[in-house]
Amino acid sequence: MRLWAVKVPRSMAEHVRRRLLIAGLIHPDVKICQNGQFILIPVIKKPDMSLLNDNIDNANNTDNTTIIESDFEPGHHNNRPSLEDELGFSPAYDVIGDIALIDMDDQDAGKIASALILCKKNIKVVLGTAGPVSGEFRTRDLVILAGEHRTHTIHTEFGCRYKLDLSLVYFSHRLGTERKRVADTVKSQQKIVDLFAGVGPFSILIAKSVPGTSVVAVDKNPKAVQFLKENIRLNRLDNVVVVEDDARQAAYKLRHCADHVIMNLPHSSREFLNSGMMVVKNGGLVHFYDITPEDDLYRTSWEIIQDTAISIGRKVECVEKRIVRSYAPHQYNVYIRFRLIDLNMRGKGFEPSYSCEIAP
Ligand code: SAM
Repeated sequence: MRLWAVKVPRSMAEHVRRRLLIAGLIHPDVKICQNGQFILIPVIKKPDMSLLNDNIDNANNTDNTTIIESDFEPGHHNNRPSLEDELGFSPAYDVIGDIALIDMDDQDAGKIASALILCKKNIKVVLGTAGPVSGEFRTRDLVILAGEHRTHTIHTEFGCRYKLDLSLVYFSHRLGTERKRVADTVKSQQKIVDLFAGVGPFSILIAKSVPGTSVVAVDKNPKAVQFLKENIRLNRLDNVVVVEDDARQAAYKLRHCADHVIMNLPHSSREFLNSGMMVVKNGGLVHFYDITPEDDLYRTSWEIIQDTAISIGRKVECVEKRIVRSYAPHQYNVYIRFRLIDLNMRGKGFEPSYSCEIAP
C-alpha cells in the first residue's frame, strides 16, 4: 500500500507521532515502521511541512524530517491499542456521530483526546466542552482538541440520521431512549407539534416511525432550523412542516391543533406552558420536561401545570411522570405527560378557538 509518510529521526519520532495524532493525520490501517536511523509514520494525506516545523521544538532535527512516499503492509486494521492500554484508565467521553466530547476540566483532556483518535476508528474529531449548555439556543463553547478541524457531523439514532454542528445547535445523544419512549406513545394519523424541535430528533423519529403522522417542528434558532430542514430531506420525509419562530407566536397560530405537544426546553418550559396547552386539542397530550430539585421532583411542577390549565378553562390528568436523568447534584431532568380536557366554560370568557393551521 503506497502512502505518504513522515520520515523522522528516531529521537524525534514520539514527539512527531503525537503531533500528527492530535492533527488526526496518522493512517490508522498500517503500522509505523523503522528505516535505519529513521521512523516512517504513515499519514492519511500529505501533511503541511509548516505543521511539522511549527511543532518540532528541536530545530536541529527539523531539517532531517521529510515527507516521502513509501510502501506499507496493509491489514493491521484491528491492531489499535485499547483506550485502557493506551491511557492506563477508562476515560469518560460521549460520542455524537464521529465526534467524541470530553470535559475540558479533566486534567488529562489532552492525553484522552490523542488516545481517542489513536484507539477508536470511528472517532475522527475530539472536542472539549468548555462550560455548560447555556443561552436561549442551548449551545455550549467547544474547543477542538484532536483530529479533523470541524464541529459538524452526522449522528444516527434509531435509524434516523441527523446532520448537526455542535457549536451552533443543541444536541444530546443521551436523550435517544427518551425520544423513543415519546415516539412510542404516538399513534398513526395523529398530529404532533414539537415546540422546541432543535435539529429534529423527536419530530423526525416520530414522522419516520409512526406512519400517517403529521408533525410541526418549531425552533427559534435559525441554524437549528437550517439543519432541521436538511435532516427532513436526509430522512426522506414529507410529513414534517418546519416553523422558524418563537414558540409563543407559533403556538398561537397552531391553537387546538395537536394530539401531542412536545415541550423539550427543560430550563424554561414552565414559561411556555400556556402556549403548549393552547396547541393541544381536547383530550390531547403534553410531553413536558422540567428541571427540579430532588426534594420536589413533581409537586411544584404539577401545581403550576394545574393552575395554568384552570386559567385557560381546562383541566389536566397526569398520565405518566418519571425521572429522565440526573442533571446536576440534587437536581433532575423530569418528564410529566398529561392530558388536557376542556371544561365547559362557554359564556364565561373561555371560548376555545379550533382553527388549525397544520398543513404538511
Ligand atoms: N428537542 C431538541 C432535542 O432533543 O435535541 C432540542 C432541545 S433544546 C433543549 C431546546 C431548543 O429550543 C433549542 O434548539 C432552542 O433553539 C429552542 N428554543 C429556545 N427558546 C425557544 C423559543 N422561545 N421558541 C422556540 N424555540 C426555542
